Amino acid sequence: MLDTEIIRRNFPILERQVYGKPLVYLDNAATTQKPVCVVDKIAEGYYHTNANVHRGVHFLSQEATEAHEQARRKVQQFIGAEHAHEIIFTRGTTEAINLVVSSYGEEFLKEGDEVIISQMEHHANIVPWQLLQNRKKIVLKVVPVLDNGELDMEAYRNIFSEKTRLVSLTHVSNVLGTINPVKEIIAEAHKREVPVMIDGAQAVPHSAVDVKDLDVDFYVFSAHKMYGPTGIGVLYGKEKWLEKMPPYQGGGEMIGHVSFEKTTFNELPYKFEAGTPDYIGTTAFATALDYISSVGIDRIEVHENELLRYATNRLLEIENIRIFGTAPHKSSVISFQVGDIHHYDMGMLLDKLGIAVRTGHHCAQPLMERLGVEGTVRASFAMYNTKEEADAFVAAVKRVSQMF
Ligand code: PMP
Repeated sequence: MLDTEIIRRNFPILERQVYGKPLVYLDNAATTQKPVCVVDKIAEGYYHTNANVHRGVHFLSQEATEAHEQARRKVQQFIGAEHAHEIIFTRGTTEAINLVVSSYGEEFLKEGDEVIISQMEHHANIVPWQLLQNRKKIVLKVVPVLDNGELDMEAYRNIFSEKTRLVSLTHVSNVLGTINPVKEIIAEAHKREVPVMIDGAQAVPHSAVDVKDLDVDFYVFSAHKMYGPTGIGVLYGKEKWLEKMPPYQGGGEMIGHVSFEKTTFNELPYKFEAGTPDYIGTTAFATALDYISSVGIDRIEVHENELLRYATNRLLEIENIRIFGTAPHKSSVISFQVGDIHHYDMGMLLDKLGIAVRTGHHCAQPLMERLGVEGTVRASFAMYNTKEEADAFVAAVKRVSQMF
């Protein structure tokens, strides 16, 4: 296990009390807390180095530009991308997916073309496709989920057709915790010459991801779920695709030359980054990546797996508990229900005991329908969580269960 005593010193918010009880923060799949070094970096950025990037000849602007581009290289290294210009900064996973849907969709999809998604997708990987469906009359094919929360891989292999143009699936389910076999998923698609986008929002914070090893075409994630600031996300895209795709938004930074007769576009990655980027945010994100690396992503994975195993076993002591998602390869997310206690009541009462969990449909309503529930209670772990917190959580669930 990690030395959480040392790690927790870097997260002052974890010392808070709520309703007179020590806070047990188990809503990490929604967003993680931020270490001091990340918050300090943001303050330092605004206090001492703030200047708009790329356009300035002056010292501060050049310094800010260098920090912003250094952050891009840091992301490149973190996920093993071939080129820094394959890293596009966005506002988050949601915007990164919308970028691909809009731009790839514009260039490569026409009426009747098929895109494969799954029953376990976050709304961010469903609704943008439906919006495109309205515009372009594409067809969405949905891979079903098995009872234990795994993707039905046989169904996946059979869902392809001559008209399949893209696969867009999540790496890790934000509800079930299932870690999908993305390498196999990508290889199957590539056999049929179909590119793949993977939603890595719940994967990158918890285990090492290497986009070159996966041979993935597009990979997206959010900084705020990995100890970084809100409002920063990443689209990794293979150069060969990004080069062929039209800009997503127009404006400053993304142009080569503008005239009323003809406007040309900037090179990668700037073609996809219209307007002033959140350069303070990207720089602080780089600090978050350094922080993760200093702890060690592999050690974080082991620690969280241990918490997952421990908390799951202890929860199973509770009568009438139902855990959604029992796949053998699982990330540190536990969705559950006890008897017929409404998820909202459970969440509210846990909150009064100091336990912060999420309740509801988790932006995955089609998955809720598959599970036959309206919502679940979800606890999710991060590097700073402890066994004592898992015990406090289980004790609180037991206590609430006995109230009904
Ligand atoms: N995909 C998955 C699997 C997620 O868990 C989330 C965040 N809940 C998103 C996409 C959307 O991320 P963001 O809100 O940061 O854009």
